[in-house]
Amino acid sequence: MRDDSPNSWEARADASSFYGFTDLPSVHERGAVVLTHGEGPYVVDVHGKRYLDANSGLWNMVAGFDHPGMAAAAKAQYDRFPGYHAFFGRMSDQTVMLSEKLIEVSPFESAKVFYTNSGSEANDTMVKMLWFLSGAEGQPQRRKILTRKNAYHGVTVAASSMTGKPYNSVFGLPLDGFIHLSCPHYWREGQEGETEAAFTRRMAAELEETIAREGADTIAAFFAEPVMGAGGVIPPSAGYFQAIQPILKKHGIPLIADEVICGFGRTGAVWGCQSYDFMPDAIISSKCLTAGYFPMGAVILGPDLCERLDRAVEEIEEFPHGFTASGHPVGCAIALKAIDVILKGDDRNPPLIENVRALTPRFESHMARLAEHPNIGEARGKGLMGALEAVRDKATRTPFDGDLSVSERIANTCTDHGLICRPLGQAIVLCPPFIMTEAQMDEMFEKLESALGKVFAQIT
Ligand SMILES: *Cc1c(COP(=O)(O)O)cnc(C)c1O
Repeated sequence: MRDDSPNSWEARADASSFYGFTDLPSVHERGAVVLTHGEGPYVVDVHGKRYLDANSGLWNMVAGFDHPGMAAAAKAQYDRFPGYHAFFGRMSDQTVMLSEKLIEVSPFESAKVFYTNSGSEANDTMVKMLWFLSGAEGQPQRRKILTRKNAYHGVTVAASSMTGKPYNSVFGLPLDGFIHLSCPHYWREGQEGETEAAFTRRMAAELEETIAREGADTIAAFFAEPVMGAGGVIPPSAGYFQAIQPILKKHGIPLIADEVICGFGRTGAVWGCQSYDFMPDAIISSKCLTAGYFPMGAVILGPDLCERLDRAVEEIEEFPHGFTASGHPVGCAIALKAIDVILKGDDRNPPLIENVRALTPRFESHMARLAEHPNIGEARGKGLMGALEAVRDKATRTPFDGDLSVSERIANTCTDHGLICRPLGQAIVLCPPFIMTEAQMDEMFEKLESALGKVFAQIT
């Protein structure tokens, strides 16, 4: 697999690139996969090997890797007006048009939009907006942020602090005042004999107790992904948002939906909050917002936060925050096209979200079939996102010994078979592009199933 000659792409990648979120033993043994281009849901490496990308790049390349309309929209805007900022009361026409479009497709009656270059920056921006509001409203102590264990909100300093994963301790994070509640994963966290309804009540009671302990007037917001993504594709327990939203409301704590993964169709609805029937106070968007064709994030403020922030900013006459490339005209033109491709379609192509809905039953039945394997403890998901959790013992839900690196082995075996999928803890994550055909979906599961069989035979 690995080409070790000094001028190989693998050696050049090693010598020049500081890897992030990469299992170094795997990359040392196998070499980095260096890619040149893509064809539909496939990517091709420097050796000409093709891989079906079951993870849509990193959740985002949902229109595939060679969508002609997306590239044309980018080219047209580069020719027309290749860059501008959104400071000092200036912005591009594309920026205004995208904001109007986002408001139109948002679940809010009225809204306003603020742009960033990434999901992490959108979360940090939201935190700064909330902290700004606390100060302006005479409640400077209202700064604590509630999230959940296993939540993933990004890697900038506030977003890392919000992320509920143990790896951030290597940075001395989280910062003080970022509080992580329990993960609402019934299969893993439910107690002996506890029903799912009782589990959900326990999650709600924990929230009540936390608010009482910390003081409602010290909490700026509760952030939640509708389905936790990078934490392992964890849908909430039944009734979770219906149980927690009234508690937050009662205490005047905004609920921010981090829709970076769920937004724009992944769960089958436009927004994850619609799949789970709750109304957030603001939405954080990125990833599918541009179908991965441009780095961009957005904070979409619902009516209440919008009105309060507008009022607070009027007082000091300026909101001192923004990125050089916020509202980039090319990014906005690409996002406008992506939203059309996903939600509207054209004469020849139905909207991709329809394909998500059409493919979901096939996805679910393949998942259910693989869940019957004695070493698959749980198959979970929503829409076109899913995870298969490997276990040594299904009845007791006992994981494999960590030293076996079971999910890395499965993912590496898949790579050998021409399938890219992602290990996460001891689970394998699938989040295929929305353009996938039924035949490609069957190919994805055939390759995965054969890799599972091979690896489980080696280690059990
Ligand atoms: C990916 C992700 C982020 C971070 O987005 P970046 O663009 O990588 O900064 C934030 N929240 C969620 C839910 C994500 O999946």
